[in-house]
Amino acid sequence: MNAYDFAHQIDAVRHRADVLGNQAKISPLPSSEILHQCLEELNTALEELHVAEEELRQQNEELATARQAMELERQRYQELFEFAPDGYLVTDPQGKIQEANRAAARLLCTSQKFLKGKLLINFIPENERRAFRSRLLRLHEMEQIQDWEVRMQTREGIRFDAAISVTMVRDNEGNLNGWRWLVRNITARKQAEAQMHAIRLENLQLQEASRMKSQFLAVMSHELRTPMNAILGFSQLLLRLPYHQFPPQARNMVERIFNSAKRLLALIEDILDFSKLESGRLELRLQEFNLAELVTATTEELRCLAEQKHLTLYIYINLSNPNIINDSDRVRQILVNLLSNAIKFTDIGGVSVEVMEIQDRIMLIVKDTGIGIAKADLKKIFQEFRQVNQCLTRKQGGTGLGLAIVDQLVHLMKGNITVESKLGEGSTFRVELPRIVSS
Ligand code: ADP
Repeated sequence: MNAYDFAHQIDAVRHRADVLGNQAKISPLPSSEILHQCLEELNTALEELHVAEEELRQQNEELATARQAMELERQRYQELFEFAPDGYLVTDPQGKIQEANRAAARLLCTSQKFLKGKLLINFIPENERRAFRSRLLRLHEMEQIQDWEVRMQTREGIRFDAAISVTMVRDNEGNLNGWRWLVRNITARKQAEAQMHAIRLENLQLQEASRMKSQFLAVMSHELRTPMNAILGFSQLLLRLPYHQFPPQARNMVERIFNSAKRLLALIEDILDFSKLESGRLELRLQEFNLAELVTATTEELRCLAEQKHLTLYIYINLSNPNIINDSDRVRQILVNLLSNAIKFTDIGGVSVEVMEIQDRIMLIVKDTGIGIAKADLKKIFQEFRQVNQCLTRKQGGTGLGLAIVDQLVHLMKGNITVESKLGEGSTFRVELPRIVSS
């Protein structure tokens, strides 16, 4: 029952009372009977009214409960709006702010009260307002825009980067009624992006610088190698002259020129190799060769160095098939670098070279009883120009390129190198290579 039904019912009772009144006027019955009849009728009407009143009361209660629930729900939404971490604004179709939550006020450094009635465009820097306006006009066709990035400004004019999402609000007829804005400060994100960009740029510059360095090294090494070959060639020719044509003092000088030039050339070769390896320009010249022969010949070449220091030098070769496919010059280079280091850093005891096979892999082991390497230095020794014991290595000579070249070569061959060492007891370098290296 609603208020309309109830009014209807009262009308009906009134009508019946009127009818009764009229009947009483014209009725032939005695007045006590008429009165009784009227009372009866009135009683019935009263009861009906009671029922109606009860129904109405119940409905009123239900209505009050529903209103309370609605109010609670409204409060909940209001709180959600108020305390949302992002700025929320509601504007009319022209962009005049009707509502703003706390975060929005915080973002624009002002109060919610101040924001009401202001135009949102006031919080866009002047030089960007035209673009903002035209974007706003285009909004009418789009209904919604996600993550529109704009520059905004606080009430005091402090600028910040903001990401905005806008949704159209329509009335019951579907006409534009306003806009709902979600505004987020993305200055920190923008700064991080700018930093990332700067780092990327710096990285590119570093890569370019490193490429230039490698190129410079390659060119320089090539330019240095040419005159070195001339010095070596001519000093070698001089050394071949008969004794009577060459005073001993002069011979000694030429010998020193020859040896120094040889060392310098080796150094230049190392730099050249390293720059090529670093820039990925070194290519392996693959061919089949006998590894046992190569290891024996190379070790024998270095035997005199070991003998000068009274060191023993042993070779153990255990290969069922000594033929492998690889770049023989580069395998030799690996062995020479490891072996000359082993001899260089050993004063007592000896050095051994061992070759064996494990399935389709070849293992090359160079062991010495020398000064050893501290655990903390083991990782560093493969880095270019790293020399662990500076004073000792200065005495022994060297550039710190040998192991870096070995490491890069081994990886180019898809192999692996490991080292085990104990200070004062010696070192063991293990190189594992595939039997067949493919390009
Ligand atoms: P270097 O030209 O100085 O020998 P390397 O790259 O060949 O350069 O070696 C780097 C450093 O690793 C050496 O200076 C030395 O300190 C250490 N090292 C290499 N091999 C050995 C070894 N067999 N015993 C002890 N130390 C070694």
